[in-house]
Amino acid sequence: MRRVSGWATHSPGETVARYDFERRDLRRTDIAVDVRYCGVCASDLTAVRTRDPASPPLVPGHEIVGTVSAVGEGVSRFAVGDEVAVGNIADSCRTCPACRAGRENWCHEGVVLTYGGVDPVDGSLGQGGFSSGYVVDEHFAYPLPAELDPAGTAPLMCAGITTYVPLRRWGAAPGRKVGIVGMGGLGHLALRLAHAMGAEVVQFTTSPGKAAEARRLGAEEVVLSRDERQMAAQVGRFDLVLDTVGAPHALEPYLRSLAVDGTLCLVGVPSEDLRVPPLELITGAKTLAGAGSGGTGETQEMLDFCAAHGIAAETEVLPSHQVNTALDRLERNDVRYRFVLDMTA
Ligand code: ZN
Ligand code: ZN
Repeated sequence: MRRVSGWATHSPGETVARYDFERRDLRRTDIAVDVRYCGVCASDLTAVRTRDPASPPLVPGHEIVGTVSAVGEGVSRFAVGDEVAVGNIADSCRTCPACRAGRENWCHEGVVLTYGGVDPVDGSLGQGGFSSGYVVDEHFAYPLPAELDPAGTAPLMCAGITTYVPLRRWGAAPGRKVGIVGMGGLGHLALRLAHAMGAEVVQFTTSPGKAAEARRLGAEEVVLSRDERQMAAQVGRFDLVLDTVGAPHALEPYLRSLAVDGTLCLVGVPSEDLRVPPLELITGAKTLAGAGSGGTGETQEMLDFCAAHGIAAETEVLPSHQVNTALDRLERNDVRYRFVLDMTA
């Protein structure tokens, strides 16, 4: 076992605190990773704030970048010293139709999450990347692209893949109009990705202060979503609207903004159900869709695409002991655009 030091939820469950624990001994195809950076995702915040104080400590973090420190005897893709990235999936059954299709994120047996999942071999609770070390099967690790800033690459492993897959699937490409709703961790990456794919991108935001930044990141136009006049001018425009907002909000204006056969895809996870007016879908034969994370093939493709286009997240890097500051500020949307913890500091 390897002793590592991390940050875990604890009673009463509102913040994270220092937590030392053991990583499992390496199995045949496992690698051990010395964690250098870990992104702070909205789901980490949810895990910390909603964790039942009676449940065991949980270490969040699933946007991991680090260096391989040891390899199991059957490892073929990595060697000690390699730089790697790990996302929000730590394992899957590998045999169900979804896994065989390279879409492990939809594993029929239920994917083993990087943290909070239950290990199918020893039944242990998965502890995440807000820690000095991680152990994972090499199948779910990826070579870190040398072209990209390592800290900015960490958020690609959740926010990046979660927005890349639907942009590809619903055709962000030259000649297509794509709207991005929300400009946080997911939204700012979606904007850069859609722009690099050649689509004409319009950024929807509630913050007038983000307009100049949105243009710098590739938006042709910025729409203030609280301005009814601006929103009325969007009706029937978009082939795809990618909605990254994690707070309750109205879908009607975005369904209305779709062209015939357009798709509104949700990737944020609001805490309440959203209302869908049927006629807004029926009129124009529109599609309401969802997406989240990606399989191993898609994740490698996303990293290759980002390396080729120089796309990494815009980050604020904080030393790991400021993790609670990062969580508090993320809760207030006070981040441009993703916190990344330096786990060595
Ligand atoms: Zn995430
Ligand atoms: Zn499976």
